[in-house]
Amino acid sequence: MKAEMALKICQKCKAACCKMGGPDFSKSEMKKVLKAGHPNYFVELNPNHFELKGKKGRCHYLTNSNSCRIHNERPLMCKCWPVYVNYKNNKKEFVLIECPLTSQLSKKDIQIMKYQASRIPKEIITNSFSSSKFPKSDIKIVEMRFNKFKQKPLN
Ligand code: SF4
Ligand code: SF4
Repeated sequence: MKAEMALKICQKCKAACCKMGGPDFSKSEMKKVLKAGHPNYFVELNPNHFELKGKKGRCHYLTNSNSCRIHNERPLMCKCWPVYVNYKNNKKEFVLIECPLTSQLSKKDIQIMKYQASRIPKEIITNSFSSSKFPKSDIKIVEMRFNKFKQKPLN
């Protein structure tokens, strides 16, 4: 899929996926963002797991015109969307999230996204909300937003 087409669809969608509190970052992903000179909104949850301050609403790196301020430095969790990875009984399970972009993706696009999702460090996925320092009420809001998207298993 061409990047311009994806951009058009995401602009029309008004970046719904970027309004769920923002992604999680590994240490190297966090460093990449700071090295590029972007503001520091990070909260350390464990040595290789960083979240953005506050889980309510917009990602701090989303501009008012709904584009990503850190596009070149965005983490795997953003690169792979709308593919996501979960761990069940220590086993990776991929899901395809239904959003306006999903139906436009080719098999090859999905394969690339799946590969990116597979590279997300496990501690970021498994520790995500359960170990978060953020108030449970904020986490509930994020989960509610995420669960609004339908998901189907991806082999
Ligand atoms: S990836 Fe999907 S949910 Fe995110 S902005 Fe694009 S269309 Fe919307
Ligand atoms: S880092 Fe960029 S792509 Fe990822 S949620 Fe934030 S604004 Fe969206």
